[in-house]
Amino acid sequence: MLFRQIQRHGDNFSYLIADEETKEAVVVDSSYNADELSRIITAQNLKLRFIINTHGHSDHTAGNAELQQAFGAKIVTSKQSKILSDLQVDDSDILTVGKIQIKIIYTPGHTPDGICLLIDGEKLLTGDTLFVGECGRTDLPGGNARQLYGSLFGRLLKLSDEVEVYPGHDYGAKPSSTIGFERKTNYVLQPRSQKEFLEFMAQP
Ligand SMILES: [Zn+2]
Repeated sequence: MLFRQIQRHGDNFSYLIADEETKEAVVVDSSYNADELSRIITAQNLKLRFIINTHGHSDHTAGNAELQQAFGAKIVTSKQSKILSDLQVDDSDILTVGKIQIKIIYTPGHTPDGICLLIDGEKLLTGDTLFVGECGRTDLPGGNARQLYGSLFGRLLKLSDEVEVYPGHDYGAKPSSTIGFERKTNYVLQPRSQKEFLEFMAQP
């Protein structure tokens, strides 16, 4: 599997994932990196199938139109998303790109349309739900700390410790992590009841 984490402009991460045999590829959160993504897709002769957005914030969807125009791929969002898309996905849906399986995990909280993507059961793309050492904010329009609690503790921490974590921004001490490392070291993920978590998130 070709798996590239790309950060060319600003602190947003984009991801390019491809089946090296069939050359089918997917971009996750084109962000401000469409130029670099286009360069690699062209150089490697990849067939871009999907442009998936982990949520509708413009710093993640920037570049959608440019990549779609260049490569004709389908823009994919959560069913709950209000942004323009060609395919809307729901929790537990699986997208197939060559032999690669991408499982959708619905994780609202940072936004109502947040999704995480589990690639072949091994790599988790967390968008703005979970960062290395931090979690997404819930004080923007549509943010909901109660939902984020469910997404983090009810969904992501249920995954096994070996699963690799690839966030939507370069906010941590390192660009990627694992569920096990975050479970141990991320101050947001320390054991809390929902009530304690809501109080914790409400702190300035
Ligand atoms: Zn966001």
